[in-house]
Amino acid sequence: MDYYSSQITRLIEELSKLPGIGSKSAQRLAFHIINMPQEQVTGLAFSITEAKRNVHYCKECFTLTDQDRCPICKSEKRNHKVIMVVEDTRDLAAYEKTGKFEGVYHVLHGAISPMLGIGPGDIKLKELMQRLQGDVEEVIIATNSSLEGETTAMYISKLIKPTGIRVTRIASGVPVGGDLEYIDEVTLLRALEGRVEL
Ligand code: ZN
Repeated sequence: MDYYSSQITRLIEELSKLPGIGSKSAQRLAFHIINMPQEQVTGLAFSITEAKRNVHYCKECFTLTDQDRCPICKSEKRNHKVIMVVEDTRDLAAYEKTGKFEGVYHVLHGAISPMLGIGPGDIKLKELMQRLQGDVEEVIIATNSSLEGETTAMYISKLIKPTGIRVTRIASGVPVGGDLEYIDEVTLLRALEGRVEL
């Protein structure tokens, strides 16, 4: 089945391991890459390996960054007493795009899912609780409105309640099961402004 040279076949195989890339797209991308100028291909390969090598979790909010602490955590203009809890870095990016949220974030890297065997210990929840020992006034839970997101929101609110810190949940209005990153900015802002006490 080796219609192409083995190196092209390997490139197609590697590309088809990426999410959303079927074998047809992988072929198309492989041929596109082969036809690209050499320096462009070198640049692409270099940016992939460098990003993988240098990008890690911010030691405060656990978003992806190439610094010790991300620019948001480092900023003195942000309100560090308000923490918005999101499932992943793409959700953080969605809220940042609105430009209206002045607090900081906490990225869980997932949501609790008994069905998938993902428990509280598998997301960055312990790390959130540690942050709450500092000076925090409000935790806004902005996990997705999926079953997992709601389960996680309930779990977190139960954990935080006894500390006396205000816990809120972004308003529903965000489509059920909708990933935050696909929701437009107006809807996100409305969800944030209409947040309710838990
Ligand atoms: Zn950070």
